[in-house]
Amino acid sequence: MGWDWYEPSEIRWYDAQFVPPPPTPPRDGGGEARRPRFNASGKCSRPHGMTKTQPIHVIGGGLAGSEAAWQIAGAGVPVILHEMRPVRRTDAHHTDGLAELVCSNSFRSDDAATNAVGLLHEELRRAGSLILAAGDAHKLPAGGALAVDRDAFSVAVTRALDGHPLVTIVREEVGRLPPADWSSVIVATGPLTSPALAAAIIAATGEGNLAFFDAIAPIVHYDSIDQTKAWRQSRYDKAGPGGTGADYLNCPMSKQEYEAFVDALLAGEKTSFKDWEASTPYFDGCLPIEVMAERGRETLRFGPMKPVGLTNPHPGSARPYAVVQLRQDNALATLWNIVGFQTKLKHAEQVRILRLIPGLEKAEFARLGGLHRNTYLNSPKLLDPSLRLKADPRLRFAGQITGCEGYVESAAVGLLAGRFAAAERHGATLPLPPPTTALGALLGYITGGHIETIDAGPRSFQPMNVNWGLFPPVEPPARTADGRRIPGKERGLARKRVMSARALADVDAWLAAQAG
Ligand SMILES: Cc1cc2nc3c(=O)[nH]c(=O)nc-3n(C[C@H](O)[C@H](O)[C@H](O)COP(=O)(O)OP(=O)(O)OC[C@H]3O[C@@H](n4cnc5c(N)ncnc54)[C@H](O)[C@@H]3O)c2cc1C
Repeated sequence: MGWDWYEPSEIRWYDAQFVPPPPTPPRDGGGEARRPRFNASGKCSRPHGMTKTQPIHVIGGGLAGSEAAWQIAGAGVPVILHEMRPVRRTDAHHTDGLAELVCSNSFRSDDAATNAVGLLHEELRRAGSLILAAGDAHKLPAGGALAVDRDAFSVAVTRALDGHPLVTIVREEVGRLPPADWSSVIVATGPLTSPALAAAIIAATGEGNLAFFDAIAPIVHYDSIDQTKAWRQSRYDKAGPGGTGADYLNCPMSKQEYEAFVDALLAGEKTSFKDWEASTPYFDGCLPIEVMAERGRETLRFGPMKPVGLTNPHPGSARPYAVVQLRQDNALATLWNIVGFQTKLKHAEQVRILRLIPGLEKAEFARLGGLHRNTYLNSPKLLDPSLRLKADPRLRFAGQITGCEGYVESAAVGLLAGRFAAAERHGATLPLPPPTTALGALLGYITGGHIETIDAGPRSFQPMNVNWGLFPPVEPPARTADGRRIPGKERGLARKRVMSARALADVDAWLAAQAG
C-alpha cells in the first residue's frame, strides 16, 4: 500500500544470469526438440510423440498468471498463457513484459520471522516460485525490504516462461468466457481486467459479484483496541440474521473530540485519483470520510458516526456525541474494520488521525483505507476452497481478481491455482495449504474466512494484503526457549516468531507431502 505512481523508464534488456528454480521434470519428456506447439484454442500442431495431456489455459500474464503457468509446467502439464499486451493495453502497464510491476518496485518486507509478507516470501521460495526467484535474482538495496529492478525482473520471468518446453505464450485478448473445449482455465487478469472479459464474468457470476472499485475502510487488529473505552453493541441491539445484538465494537466521542476529529480530517493530506480512475463511476454510497466532512461538519454525525441506538455501558460515561463503529472482519475475530471509513487520506495521516478516536489511540492497522480502480470478485461467495468458480468449476481464478492485494499475494494465489489445476490434470486432489501458513491464511481469507456484512453500503469483502490477523492466533510466549522471561513489550514480536516458525514447519510438511 502507499504506492508511488510509476513513471516508465526505458526498457533495458539484460543478459542477467538468472537461474529460475528447477521445475519438476516433465513426466513425458521435455526439451526444445519435443516442445509441443499449441495454437490459441489449445490444438497441438506438433503432436508426434508428444504429450497427450490437454493443456491448461492461463488468461493474463501478470504476477499471478506467470506464477501459475510456471507451476503448471513444473508439474509436467502443458500450459497456454494468453496475455493481451501488446495487442491491447491497460491504463497502468507500460511494457509488453510478463509480470510487469505497475507501480512500486517493492515486494515489501523480507523479514520472514516477524513480518507476514516476509513469511509469504519464504514460503514461496520453498515452493519453487518463479516470481520470488526472479525477484531475488534482481533485488536492489532496500534495507529490510525486497525491492527489485523492475525491468530485469520482468525480462527474467518472460524468458523463463518463454524458454520452458511446456509453455506456449499467445499474445491475444480473451474477450469472452473461454470456449467449452478449454477444459481447465485459470483467469488471472488482475485489477485491470479488460472490459469485454469483465462483462463476460459478470454474465457468468451475476450482477454485483464483480467490483470495479475498492472503497477500502481501514482494518484494526482486535488486540490493539482499548476495551476499557470501546464496548460491544449492535445499533438498537438488533441481532439481524446470524448476529447476537452485540456484534459491533463502538468507540464514543464527546463534542470536543468530534470537532477535533473533523478538523483533522479537513486538514489531513490526501491522495488524488489518477486521470483514468477519475472517469470510473463514483458512488455516493462510499464517499471518503474526508469528503463527507467537507460537505458539512455534521455530515459524519448523520452518517457512519451517528450516535443513535447505542448506550455506553462504561461507568460514569456521558451520552456519546458521535460513535465510530468497528465490525468483525474475519472468522477468527482478530480483525475489525471501521465501518464506513473509506478514505483517500495519505497512509501516515490515516494512522495519525484515526488514533484520535477514543479506544483506538494505540490501534495497529492490518490495512489502511483507500479508494482506487480494482476489478475483483466476491470470492467467498463464488469460489470453492481450491479457487474454482462454483458455478463452472473448469474456471479457476487467481491473483488480485480473487480479492488478495499486492504483487506477492497475487503471485502466491497464482502459485496455488497453478498447483491445484496441475494436480487435477494428473487426476489428483491437492490438499489445501494449512491455515497456519501464509499461503493457507491468504487462501482462507479469499475463499471463506471473511465475514459477510448484513449492512447496506459498499460490499464488505475487500482486497487484503497478507497480515498476522489472518492466522490462527497463538498465546504470546512468556519465556524464551532457555527460560528467560520475555518483557511485556517484546511479547508481540515473540508471538510473531512463534507463528512464523509454526508456518514454516507446516508449509514444509505440506510441500513434502506433495513431493512424496
Ligand atoms: C495502478 C495500480 C498500482 C498498483 N501498485 C501496486 C504496488 O505498488 N504494489 C503492489 O504490491 N501492488 C500494486 N497494485 C496491485 C497490483 O496490480 C497487483 O498487486 C498485481 O499486479 C496483481 O497481479 P495480477 O497477476 O493479479 O494482475 P496483473 O499483474 O495486472 O496481471 C494481469 C494481466 O492480465 C492481462 N489481461 C487483462 N485482461 C486480459 C484479457 N481479457 N485477456 C488477456 N490478458 C488480459 C493484463 O494485461 C495483465 O498483464 C497496483 C494496482 C494498480 C491497478
